[in-house]
Amino acid sequence: MRLEARSVTKSFDGSRQVTALEGIDLDIRDGEFVCIVGPSGCGKSTLLYMLAGLEFPTGGTIVANGEPVTGTAPSRALMFQDGALFPWLSVLANVEFGLKMKKLARDGRGARARQLLRMVHLEPFADARVHELSGGMRQRVSLARALAVEPDVLLLDEPFGALDAITRGVLHTELQEIWLSTMKTIVFITHNVREAVVLGDRVLVMSPRPGRFVAEHAIELPRPRHIDDAAVNAYARRISADVKLVDEVAIAGR
Ligand code: ADP
Ligand code: MG
Repeated sequence: MRLEARSVTKSFDGSRQVTALEGIDLDIRDGEFVCIVGPSGCGKSTLLYMLAGLEFPTGGTIVANGEPVTGTAPSRALMFQDGALFPWLSVLANVEFGLKMKKLARDGRGARARQLLRMVHLEPFADARVHELSGGMRQRVSLARALAVEPDVLLLDEPFGALDAITRGVLHTELQEIWLSTMKTIVFITHNVREAVVLGDRVLVMSPRPGRFVAEHAIELPRPRHIDDAAVNAYARRISADVKLVDEVAIAGR
């Protein structure tokens, strides 16, 4: 799916007006993996929610496959940092919920849900409850549920931000595999520059107050990439230096 933003501005009215985003222009190609990095509060989530159709610009337009975005749609699936799973349902039932949204007939759901769980390497845990799972496993379930609605685009808001480094590394590999096998369009938000370099075809950098794009980097490295690769590190240093992102955590990869 092609996604575009044209001169998008977003302000929030409160006790004082906050201009979260200003002058946002964006072109995402069908099948592209785009990462957006920037410090906390620069408007990354706001931009992603507008691409999802949960928030609307106060100026300019968001366009998906040539049509203005007027609300949410199954073709654009959003996944949050905390996964937002149903704790009282089994792993399988959480994924099946996505299929119910898709209005898939009941008897087809189980098999399809298991297939999705296989894709995220969780099939043996189909009957487990969500509270029995580690953080990484929960995010895999969320990913399977997001994929269940067969979206054209995955919108991911810092999905691995709360995970330890080892688990995050495993999920980086799995997400690259999923992307290579499905060729979905992915927009991935993170404040970790190295993570962005590992995953993205292209890394867009935002700066805050108001949020806007200040740099863009094409990442020309073979896949699968790993966060400890020297070439990944070299890109990350360049990107961080370019925009003076004071994010030593990201550079250290912790
Ligand atoms: P990020 O995801 O990059 O951390 P956000 O998109 O969450 O940033 O927020 C960008 C700015 O917009 C922040 O200053 C935040 O306080 C403000 N903001 C976001 N959502 C709202 C809202 N619903 N009402 C008022 N201000 C908001
Ligand atoms: Mg955010």
